[in-house]
Amino acid sequence: MSQIFSEFLEYYKEIKRYEETAGIISWELHTEASQKASDNLIELQSFYEGRAFEMSTCDKMGDYLYKLLSDDEYESMPREWQLSVKKLKREYEENKNIPLEFYKEYSKTVAKAEDVWQNAKRNNDLDSFMPYLEKITDNLKEMCSYRRPDKNPYDLLLSDNEKGMEREQIDKIFEEIKKELIPFVKKITEKNQPDRRKFTGHFDINKQKELSVFLLEYIGFNMDAGILAESEHPFTSGITRDDVRLTNHYDETNIINPIFSIIHEGGHGIFEQNSDAKYFGTPLSSCSYMGLHESQSRFYENILGRNINFWKPIYYKIKELFPQYENIKLEEFYREINHVERGLIRIDSDEVTYCFHIIIRYEIERELFEGNIRISDIPKLWREKMNEYLGIEPSDDAKGVLQDSHWSGGAFGYFPSYLIGSVYDGMLYERIEEELGSIDKILSEGNIKDITRWLNENIHREGTSAQPKELIETLCKREVSAKPLIKYFKKKYGELYGV
Ligand code: ZN
Repeated sequence: MSQIFSEFLEYYKEIKRYEETAGIISWELHTEASQKASDNLIELQSFYEGRAFEMSTCDKMGDYLYKLLSDDEYESMPREWQLSVKKLKREYEENKNIPLEFYKEYSKTVAKAEDVWQNAKRNNDLDSFMPYLEKITDNLKEMCSYRRPDKNPYDLLLSDNEKGMEREQIDKIFEEIKKELIPFVKKITEKNQPDRRKFTGHFDINKQKELSVFLLEYIGFNMDAGILAESEHPFTSGITRDDVRLTNHYDETNIINPIFSIIHEGGHGIFEQNSDAKYFGTPLSSCSYMGLHESQSRFYENILGRNINFWKPIYYKIKELFPQYENIKLEEFYREINHVERGLIRIDSDEVTYCFHIIIRYEIERELFEGNIRISDIPKLWREKMNEYLGIEPSDDAKGVLQDSHWSGGAFGYFPSYLIGSVYDGMLYERIEEELGSIDKILSEGNIKDITRWLNENIHREGTSAQPKELIETLCKREVSAKPLIKYFKKKYGELYGV
């Protein structure tokens, strides 16, 4: 190992420590910490993030990267560090022009905005949140102009979230989904809906936690290298591959949302735990692209978790924990978990209407960043689009624009990732059946871990270093397309609803 490379490794290890510390503080902030602790924790998080940012963008870093990319040095590094150094160089070039003070101020604004948003949502008080939303979008535009003055800001944000998926392609895919699914959902929701009352009642939270852990282990999440806590909104935080932290949010009156939330987070967690060990401690230890990440969580949640065969070997567990389910047949449970409804809330929606919740947010973001609408236009546009795609509109902002945390956290360009993830899932579904045979059969025999193993080998191991779109296209031997997803919806829900 050359002198310069070993010096650099020490330097990078320090950056990584700051990032991991910031991650742990953020985890505390959103799980166990008291309300009063939050201001101090925000300060701490921003301090460590700032420190990592400073070290990644200063001249010293530039100097290291320049030297390591020279022929001799480059050739002598292991492959994972060749890829890592290239990635760090790209980020360095983009981020070095962001003024440090601006960056620190921005990360504080965002942390504060998340707090303001929570209260605004609780009190249905959009006005208190609007100035923050305005500030965050202005700051993000400014940030993009430092990073890539040659690039359209929203395109840059899209590429941060899913490199390779260009706006034209996303537009085309989403238009196809709208064209096929708006009339399909209309037909379904005109049908008789099942009686849903028997699924509500009182469900012990501790037993729900027990069920969550059971499900995580069943799908292949390793609890020896992970923990489960509670938070307002379920999320996953991969500190390292041996320290993957998941949360769930429980509901005393109904177990269905918590069940699917934990299967979803479990999918993220399995991805985090199974990146190749050689990437440990490098910038490639985790997948930073959300389309590919969401494709994994949503594959477990929807394609597997909402399949009746997933439950055949384990439905007994629900009955065992919750006597209320004693007289609910598996077929009834299956209908309930695939109940298609024109609802207002994204995270409560079924997998079909979910598409529209995403498209609405994507279209609003796009127009906002193009300067075609103002922040104050969002609520009205939200209502119009909900009406157009789903035929309903929210009576208040808490059930409209205030429902999600993403924008308060500066996560613009993130929403499309969920639907891109599902689009990938339609393709993966076909690919897995080609290689492993019927998914229904694998699930009904209780062999879900065979699917997890396939995903480990084909997606998780190298997925942290690959360009996501290329990975999917190579694996599935076709261009990214919504057709397999639409086909899957029409077959499954056609049978369920007789349309
Ligand atoms: Zn997710």
